[in-house]
Amino acid sequence: MQVEHYERYVGAEVVERILEKARPLQDLRVAHVNSTYYGGGVAELLSPLTLLMNSVGMVTEWRAIQGPPDFFNITKKMHNALQGADIHLTPLKANIYEEVVYENAVRNRLDHDRVVIHDPQPLPIVRHSRKRGPWIWRCHVDLSRPDPALWAYLKPFVEQYDATVLSIPEYARELSIPQVFFMPAIDPFSIKNREMSEGEMDERFAHHHIPTDLPLVVQVSRFDRWKDPEGVVAAWQLARKEVPCTLVLLGNMAVDDPEGLDVYAEVMRHQDERLIILSREDTALVNALQRRAAVVVQKSLREGFGLTVAEAMWKGTPVVGGNVGGIRHQIEDGYSGFLVDSVEQCAARIVQVLKSPRLRHQLGQHAHETVRRRFLLTRYLEQYLDLFSAFEA
Ligand code: UDP
Repeated sequence: MQVEHYERYVGAEVVERILEKARPLQDLRVAHVNSTYYGGGVAELLSPLTLLMNSVGMVTEWRAIQGPPDFFNITKKMHNALQGADIHLTPLKANIYEEVVYENAVRNRLDHDRVVIHDPQPLPIVRHSRKRGPWIWRCHVDLSRPDPALWAYLKPFVEQYDATVLSIPEYARELSIPQVFFMPAIDPFSIKNREMSEGEMDERFAHHHIPTDLPLVVQVSRFDRWKDPEGVVAAWQLARKEVPCTLVLLGNMAVDDPEGLDVYAEVMRHQDERLIILSREDTALVNALQRRAAVVVQKSLREGFGLTVAEAMWKGTPVVGGNVGGIRHQIEDGYSGFLVDSVEQCAARIVQVLKSPRLRHQLGQHAHETVRRRFLLTRYLEQYLDLFSAFEA
């Protein structure tokens, strides 16, 4: 995909401005490093972003670090603790973490002009690399209330970077390096987000035996406690007493997230013919569900930024989202969706949308326009260009 293709959504002026900003950065060598090529928002973002960066002339690579299950158990606990859960980081665990990252440093020669390290998993890699240019730590998690002991342990690694990018100003920490804030974005041309005909959608639903006779309430999320699948089921159980509806929970597992199977097994204990819980790798199904849903729910308890929220909003579907983290910056409560603090509020908003096609249409239109203006990948690319250029000056 070329940046020029975005003209129909963002206008010629924006595309021209981006190309102008990219000109001085021609042939700049860029590396993005994260911990999985598949599953979760970061992989979802890097996939189109690295292509778009190449399309404007930067030689952009994407590397994913490898590690044994122990490593990902530890980094998942870190991820949870950065979002406020408890952690007991023993010296043994810290040692495994640092050792595996060191092994990845040996395997990956990161001598690029700009290196962007994503999230805590590969964070200490900065210690082992001879910097040829600025290194940026891009943290995607909800950092509003990190565990203080864990943060104290990670902070010295973070301060070896030249800058950090966080999604929103609420995540700012006390750091000796510059902190820049920008939110992720979506690719409108991907299989997940592009237009789909009614027939194509029906075909996907039939394939997965999803009944469409009642309105669909949908949450698409990794099976992760922060996404509160139990809360979504509870809200749906309340809502269906007022308006009959079907709940679809579609989730996948990420390579770097070892808790997925447990959370999936827990939520599967609920049995009801109107409750469809699926773990399938089917991107077109995600698209169809977000498009056809009467309402999409993203009842997260923490959320750095919800790509699923932006994806559904782009499709003109109202989202009832948890009143946390990045979601508060994505949805304007009552204008482009709803923000909720409890199961009861969530149920009430679901009912309100299900009862009023007019409200659904209005919220959906505002949601689509919000994403067009603020959450398409061109905006994200431009912020990276600005950041990369800032180091040139
Ligand atoms: N996703 C998917 N299939 C699923 C569940 C999630 O393709 O069954 C995608 C979802 O559409 C989104 C990404 O995974 O693009 C999740 O990103 P988000 O920022 O919402 O959450 P994260 O997983 O990064 O916490």
